Amino acid sequence: MTHRRSRDPIRHVDLDDLDVEIDAYIATHRSAAETAAGHRRRWDVWEKHCAESGVDPWDAPYSAFEDLLLSRREDGLTYSPSHMFNLLASITDAYSNHGLVPAHRREENKGAWSATFRGWQRDFADAAARGETVTCDHVPLMRSDVQQMLAVPLTAAARTRPCRVATLVACALLALDGGWELSRIRALRFDNVDLASETAIVIDGDRFICDHRERAPGVPWDCLVCAIRGLISSADRREGLIFDTEDRAEIGRWLRKQAGNWPFLRLGGGGRGASTMEIDPAADSWAIAGTRRGLVIVAHQPDSDSWLRGRAWVALAWQAGLRMVSDLVRLDREALAPVRNPSRGEFDGWRLTLGVAKNDPLGTRADVRVYTDATGRAAVDAISEYLSVRDAAQGRDGRLIVGGRRGLFAGGPMKKPLQAAKNDLDELSLLAGIEPVFTTYSIRKGFVAQAAADGWAFDRVQASLRHRKSDTTAQYFPKLGARQAAYKFQAELAEGVRRA
Ligand SMILES: [Zn+2]
Repeated sequence: MTHRRSRDPIRHVDLDDLDVEIDAYIATHRSAAETAAGHRRRWDVWEKHCAESGVDPWDAPYSAFEDLLLSRREDGLTYSPSHMFNLLASITDAYSNHGLVPAHRREENKGAWSATFRGWQRDFADAAARGETVTCDHVPLMRSDVQQMLAVPLTAAARTRPCRVATLVACALLALDGGWELSRIRALRFDNVDLASETAIVIDGDRFICDHRERAPGVPWDCLVCAIRGLISSADRREGLIFDTEDRAEIGRWLRKQAGNWPFLRLGGGGRGASTMEIDPAADSWAIAGTRRGLVIVAHQPDSDSWLRGRAWVALAWQAGLRMVSDLVRLDREALAPVRNPSRGEFDGWRLTLGVAKNDPLGTRADVRVYTDATGRAAVDAISEYLSVRDAAQGRDGRLIVGGRRGLFAGGPMKKPLQAAKNDLDELSLLAGIEPVFTTYSIRKGFVAQAAADGWAFDRVQASLRHRKSDTTAQYFPKLGARQAAYKFQAELAEGVRRA
């Protein structure tokens, strides 16, 4: 077994004695200013990794280092051994600057760590030999797939029995639109409902008209008449409209829980318990539409916001070639503002003001993306629907993309954004009947592949991806250098023009 003393340990991946190599690396590189920046960057990666697993970066347990080997970069790529080597060197360096020893280098863990790291390297080499590392997991997400994801109806995403969903939706809308007391809703029976006509219904003497007119643009307005019709068709014909004695108590609990969650929702009526539910009369149409739609969505998906958030998240990222996580999760809600049609002044879509770019800490290249009919109505609608419900749940400040334990009601930074993004992608894929093979990196990769298919000029792709150097953009075309990629684009563009 030879022990190599490379002048450039960065490329040295044949690690027989990791500790010695790391010491050598630190000794060689510590003073270099450029390396200091590299150390800081890699320490940031480590801090983020620790934050995601909820451990202290300065006192991380051994398992955090094992997990680090299995983690992925934000673009979804696997870390190469040399990259991992640098990462570990930077962590060790930071620890030793503070007179600390990281867990993986402590005496009691040395043997285990050495075996684990070597095993990991072997796996990496095997996967590379099979052509599986770096790019294999990142199937490009193309426009047709995105369209299918955005088109998944809420009913398809339901996680509870159709009968229960229909009951909850009908009850909520009867309370809100009909102003019915909960006791009256609970007592509703089949023979109280008169399906008067195609567009109207008489329930217990009250007449309702089928009405889906949007009160806020892009936010679906669920109709009470259609909800009752849905209830009747889903019901397993008992005497009560659908619910038996046990369910009746549950309906009351559900409505009360919602009134506790949604800021604009409140219970009214006197007596021992609340008997009515209404939306705050001071709420504007945006808050009303969001609260109402939110109730309907929660009836379908009581324990998940993947359908609502995922569609908006994918739309925001894919339509503009953005990273789901690093470009979007740190943005505040105020980053999105409505676009008004210049001549008619009507709502036309959304404008996203991006924060600082990856290589632009001062934000000098901060720019905007616009989502309108021109980029796809389905995307605009998915964004509107998410935003209205999100705003109704927690007001118009906080982070733009929310989630986590409190779901839509969580305002702070997401705990595990990369995992949340992957979950949303998987769930939407399954709902759309597509194999769940996409990673967050698939979005950018697919955006570029689609741009190429659509004949975009290379510099337009580069600008969309917010790359400063064309070489970086060219990396999305593994077989081509930057120049060839540029030529290829221009040739395709010319071809497109000729065909048009
Ligand atoms: Zn209707």
